[in-house]
Amino acid sequence: MHVILLFLVSATLACSQSGSRKTSSHVRIYQSSTKATIQMDRIQKSDDEWRALLSDEVFRIARKKGTERAFTGAYWNHHASGTYVCRCCQTELFPSTTKYDSGSGWPSFYAPVAQSNVENHVDRSLPYETRTEITCARCGAHLGHVFEDGPKPTGLRYCVNSAALAFVPKK
Ligand code: FE
Repeated sequence: MHVILLFLVSATLACSQSGSRKTSSHVRIYQSSTKATIQMDRIQKSDDEWRALLSDEVFRIARKKGTERAFTGAYWNHHASGTYVCRCCQTELFPSTTKYDSGSGWPSFYAPVAQSNVENHVDRSLPYETRTEITCARCGAHLGHVFEDGPKPTGLRYCVNSAALAFVPKK
């Protein structure tokens, strides 16, 4: 009886996961070094594997959808030329050329390096506001949210946690 119950529970979980998550293990990622979009494997690791690779703060924010306090991160007031990449998997995410001062206290960009490298998800975690969460397309790291109050030419504000980013200076 217990075995049957266990089977039913695991079958139900498997169904609900495949229904709500992308099942493809591949993703197309743009690389500025070759100016090409190439198919790559998604990076999937357990919490324990990520914990071994990341600081507690980065794990909390990038893997557990946390948020750093405004005006405290490494990049909200950072103006060097280069590319902001994913802290977890080094996928290129945002060029410094689309960074602007939103006044929010978080690094803000009006566009990613390529639409393919950042994924959008409906986020209903706040009771009073439906937001659009942004994640790294390759490893699923939580980056922040995108809002429709950004500057031209896109009108978008990608509001990103510094802890989810690393910066690669322009050579
Ligand atoms: Fe990533």
